[in-house]
Amino acid sequence: MHYMESTKDTLQRFLFENISIRGELTQLHKSWQAIIENHDYPPVVRDVLAQMLVAGVLLAATLKFKGRIILQIQGKGALPLVVAECSSEQAIRGLAHYSQDIKKDSLKNLVGKGQLAITLETENKTERYQSIVELVGNSVADAIEHYLVTSEQLPTRLWLSANDDTAAGLLIQKLPHESVDEENIHRVQTDEDGWNRVEQLSATIRDDELLDLDAAEVIHRLYHEEDVRVFEFEPVFFRCSCSKQRVANMLRGLGEKEVHSIIEDEKVISIHCEFCNHQYDFDAVDATQLFSDSILPDGSATQH
Ligand SMILES: [Zn+2]
Repeated sequence: MHYMESTKDTLQRFLFENISIRGELTQLHKSWQAIIENHDYPPVVRDVLAQMLVAGVLLAATLKFKGRIILQIQGKGALPLVVAECSSEQAIRGLAHYSQDIKKDSLKNLVGKGQLAITLETENKTERYQSIVELVGNSVADAIEHYLVTSEQLPTRLWLSANDDTAAGLLIQKLPHESVDEENIHRVQTDEDGWNRVEQLSATIRDDELLDLDAAEVIHRLYHEEDVRVFEFEPVFFRCSCSKQRVANMLRGLGEKEVHSIIEDEKVISIHCEFCNHQYDFDAVDATQLFSDSILPDGSATQH
């Protein structure tokens, strides 16, 4: 029986004190359900999207600035698009496109000849870094590990899992020796087997453990013989970054003539956000307001 607060919808960071390896564990429940609730995703699509979101949370935790990470798989198969985003505050959103006749298969076969694009973006979008690699491997974890190797990142391993209820993942990453403080450096340098040992211990994780045990139980189960420092967990939540204001800015970009001409034909412009299923409607009155700065309700909301 558990009296502990549930660790679902959290990011749990931990550190191996003497081996210069960091770890992260995340388990998504409500945040994940919120993303799929208005979509009728078949299980195979749902699993890939879940694993992409979990990977997004695990990788976003390595961001060194305020912003977000966007993982995107693109191809020409029955699963041509999967997008997962996570901000540095652990706000997640995601979506997938699929064909109706999709059947369970390896990731590579589902996506077809495809790519994995990983984009890092600062909060104000002033800086953006994107790397695109060929989609390799049979799972989301394989594809991301391949990306991490080719982009010469620190050695990193991921384990990702999903079922109807929960999406979960574990990450371990080897840190450069420079990140170790003076008093521990000797022990780190002499424990050359540390990385292999932690990798092997991590690989014993079973899907049901990763999905169902509390984060603290998973960490204890895997690493009880190691010296692990566990940090306060951080919440992970669903939040869509769409807004009426953003849609309004986009419509302004189309131009007044174009917007009024659509409204003449359609009566209303309906813009649907695929991430959260919210619909933004603009009728003739809204359209007039769009192009009339003087009557916009909030000066800060206008674009200049
Ligand atoms: Zn939205």
